[in-house]
Amino acid sequence: MESYDVVIVGAGPAGLKCAEILAQNDKKVLVLEKNKIIGDKVCAGGLTLKDLKLGIPDNIIQRKFNSVFIHTPHQDTEIKLDKPFIVTIDRKDLGKWMADKAKKQGAEIRTDSKATKIDEKTVIVNDKDKIGYKYLVGADGSNSLVRKYLNLSTDKFLETFQYLTLKRFKDLEVFFDPEKFGPLYSWVFPHKNLSVIGGGGILKENFTNQHLILKSLILEKILKITGKTSLILAQLSCKQL
Ligand SMILES: Cc1cc2nc3c(=O)[nH]c(=O)nc-3n(C[C@H](O)[C@H](O)[C@H](O)COP(=O)(O)OP(=O)(O)OC[C@H]3O[C@@H](n4cnc5c(N)ncnc54)[C@H](O)[C@@H]3O)c2cc1C
Repeated sequence: MESYDVVIVGAGPAGLKCAEILAQNDKKVLVLEKNKIIGDKVCAGGLTLKDLKLGIPDNIIQRKFNSVFIHTPHQDTEIKLDKPFIVTIDRKDLGKWMADKAKKQGAEIRTDSKATKIDEKTVIVNDKDKIGYKYLVGADGSNSLVRKYLNLSTDKFLETFQYLTLKRFKDLEVFFDPEKFGPLYSWVFPHKNLSVIGGGGILKENFTNQHLILKSLILEKILKITGKTSLILAQLSCKQL
């Protein structure tokens, strides 16, 4: 049976950074990713200064912003600095960059490899291959199998969703309004050739009502700015802890 010091379930940013650090410290590391492509995930792709300190290379940055428009029911504000402090990226580009860094340190990454069962010493991959571990890292996102195996409960469960439109908006905007958008916020994040418009943070118990309000507000915004000819590329929906 194959065996590793550490098996990391999930090749998202958390799993890949963890793999890079552990491999750098001479651990034999395997990352399991259920998808064929790393980073293909529902995400607005906005990164802030703190993320940029990780050394995100310029060639994967889609747009840079030195101002953000913040809208609340009480006021509209522009926060402006003399240098970019928010950027947008495509998660697949980020995933590839992070995976390359982890591999460079010696981590092994297997895509198309879903952890389907866990016990105290092994992980079963794709219902057939058994892999041994000394340590197991659960970096498998909001529906984590590792969390379920450890029987850890979650008290917060949020719904978020977003649309992609081919319209390339100029400004990066966020909207706070608990009555309309729930406890988090809505966003317009322009990328190179499209914009991501979404809303997040609808508590599960309020989901139906707030989802409908948010959806219609977002559609209204898209139509207002782009006109009815705008093509909405995709409607995505997901769950996030
Ligand atoms: C609509 C939306 C918009 C967002 N926008 C932003 C944003 O603009 N900026 C920002 O910083 N954050 C944003 N986020 C949050 C961001 O996506 C998450 O914080 C981030 O992805 C968490 O990283 P992670 O590595 O913990 O998990 P994930 O990125 O979820 O990675 C988990 C990985 O584990 C894999 N996996 C799951 N189960 C298994 C299994 N059984 N076996 C193998 N692999 C498995 C998944 O395929 C996935 O690749 C957004 C989230 C949503 C939902």
